[in-house]
Amino acid sequence: MIGVHEIDRDIFEDLDANWGELGYSDLTQIHFDIGAVANDYDSRIAEANLRGSTTAFVDADGQLRSVIVLYKNIKTTSQHGKLKYVLKIASLLHEIGHVEDLEKGINFDVENAGLDIIEAEIFAHLWALERMAKSGYCQSYDVLLGGLKDAINDKGYRGNYTAQLNRPAGPQLFRPCGLTACSAARGVS
Ligand SMILES: [Zn+2]
Repeated sequence: MIGVHEIDRDIFEDLDANWGELGYSDLTQIHFDIGAVANDYDSRIAEANLRGSTTAFVDADGQLRSVIVLYKNIKTTSQHGKLKYVLKIASLLHEIGHVEDLEKGINFDVENAGLDIIEAEIFAHLWALERMAKSGYCQSYDVLLGGLKDAINDKGYRGNYTAQLNRPAGPQLFRPCGLTACSAARGVS
């Protein structure tokens, strides 16, 4: 990963036209084919609610490079403006989960520009939840977990992967290590 940027909405909505502005004009973007499983999804990994995205590139030497962008101004209903960082931590860690996946080639096939988007979302969410639990970022953990629980009945790819996260035989979204760590941090048994 070579960069993390907080950017304004208009740049976020038209990233392809702004990579030069952000300093990446010498890189070639990889457009992943996500097939028909998520036709409500952009080929870029963009989160509607978390407001972040990860984009993969190759440089002149053929090396894989990735860049994360996050919404600079996110809306919060809270009177405490600094709580936006609770959301930003969740967004950032989710995107770093995608980078981890991308660099290890778990659900991303860089050579063939292939991507299993459902598995990639599951991987990134679990990766983020685990990091937040281990680091004691309990507010961010709760925000992400709550968002996933709320999305279980959504239509489209989001409902699809959150339902899979929630299956008893699935990757165990509500894994005890996360809940235990955050409960312990609050002094709750
Ligand atoms: Zn994602």
